[in-house]
Amino acid sequence: MRTMLNRTLLCLASALAALPIASAEAQTASATSAPLALDTKRIARDVTTMASDTFEGRAPGTAGDERTIGYLIARMQDEGLEPAGPDGQWVQAVPLLHTKLGTPRTLAFQTPKGALAVDRTKDIYVSTLRPADAAVIDKAPVVFVGYGVKAPERGWDDFKGADLAGKVVVFLVNDPDFEAAKGMDPYGKFGGRTMTYYGRWTYKFEEAARQGAVGALIVHDTAGAGYGWNVVESPGGENYDVVKSADTLTPLQLQGWIQGAVAKDLFARAGLDLAALEKQARSKDFKPVVLKGVTFSADVPVTHETITSHNVLGKIAGTTHADEAVIFGAHWDAYGKGEPDAQGRIYRAGANDDALGVAALLDIARVMKTRPAPERSVVFAAWTGEERGLLGSEFYAANPVVPMEKTVANLAIDILQTAGPAKDVILVGQGQDTLEDDMARVARTQGRTVTPEGLPERGLFYRADHFSFAKRGVPVMLLMGIAGASNLEQGGTKAGQDWIDAYTGNCYHQACDAIGPDWNLTGALEDIDLIGRIGWDLATSRRWPTWKAGSEFKAIREQSAASRN
Ligand SMILES: [Zn+2]
Repeated sequence: MRTMLNRTLLCLASALAALPIASAEAQTASATSAPLALDTKRIARDVTTMASDTFEGRAPGTAGDERTIGYLIARMQDEGLEPAGPDGQWVQAVPLLHTKLGTPRTLAFQTPKGALAVDRTKDIYVSTLRPADAAVIDKAPVVFVGYGVKAPERGWDDFKGADLAGKVVVFLVNDPDFEAAKGMDPYGKFGGRTMTYYGRWTYKFEEAARQGAVGALIVHDTAGAGYGWNVVESPGGENYDVVKSADTLTPLQLQGWIQGAVAKDLFARAGLDLAALEKQARSKDFKPVVLKGVTFSADVPVTHETITSHNVLGKIAGTTHADEAVIFGAHWDAYGKGEPDAQGRIYRAGANDDALGVAALLDIARVMKTRPAPERSVVFAAWTGEERGLLGSEFYAANPVVPMEKTVANLAIDILQTAGPAKDVILVGQGQDTLEDDMARVARTQGRTVTPEGLPERGLFYRADHFSFAKRGVPVMLLMGIAGASNLEQGGTKAGQDWIDAYTGNCYHQACDAIGPDWNLTGALEDIDLIGRIGWDLATSRRWPTWKAGSEFKAIREQSAASRN
């Protein structure tokens, strides 16, 4: 087993070996810059500060929001960055709708076998994105729409022209490939086990809204969703959106999830076998199925407000191509105040998710400022509202400071493994873009290898802020420590998986996501070094990363190719 000392020597050796050929190599391939002299203590100090009670769990629109913004501006100033927001400001204002459901006056299915009252936390989990005083659904028919996919480019339409206006639609989680076996229809139409965007809950609620539904419920199962019910219910009936105009407001009064067992019971009351319907849903011939005699009613008070949160943006201005930017991103927001846990902790402060990512960006910035300024600009973005649906990055990407076509890449950090040094780095979204080749190149100089994410069916590629850039064509890379088991120096992939299981099972979005003596940042530091150097190499070159053949984002990027000559 290699030790860290060996690793360090290896890095130095390969860096030195690369020096004599670096200038010649730059013409044809990519030069790899020297490792970043990162500072674990500074990173840990920033995490400790942002995750402390003073910041109240960093929920958008709270006092913790203001304190975090102030802290991040001060830290960016400390590191010598310049403001990179609109009009030379450090911040970009992001107007958000915040809603919260009160205690339901009514929340029940009416079925041929009597009323089925549902507990709004244990049985179903709902929220609303409408700024009204109540979410009201009056005896709406309930329709099962299978995976609810409308994908003309794949010859797939689960709706078959059904009229879903005014109805409550029930979806399966994930996409039609998820349960399919090799050789079985429709295997491969939806990327095999790799989740497509059609498998994401965000897609399903968007599609339900396009269909004019008033309610949308996704049948929860832990394997298909990629997380347990504890994660589903953790927002506690609150929801957020970027502020919408009346004509773009969703028709969905309520959107959310239904427990698998409750759905099974509900379908049985209508004489339907959910397991059999799940099989039918895997065929492109599937048609929506009305739950005969079943309606859904809800009358739930809603409190709503418009709040203004902020993205924090700092930069190192480029020397010769300042109009082109590499953007590093991490989200500053977390889940705020919740119910006390066993240890009485009320703030879900997201120490790893994603104070660590923000701290990493600050230290990358510090190291870059010790070097001569690069040709291209480097922007460091701390996004708001990621946990509410990638809202800060979405708002930025819709209102960018550097146009998307001149944005070289978005490099994102959202959770890093804190279990110690690893022999590999985890790649999310294999086959998407050429940044994975950069990842392999830099990992090699660290004496590490690249391991594709463990469960591509979880769709992590669509679940972090980099996706706001990807869908607009900007090549992206995401480091996410829970994407796959790291091959740890101590204990191998088993220990890597144990760490993921412990983190996602207990701490993800909970008060237990705290920094403590159990954190070993050695492996995280290598990941931060890797992403930092990829960004530096791009900022000091004329290279434009590209999407690979077969990526759903390639065509979008190519539309603006002329502007990158
Ligand atoms: Zn996160």
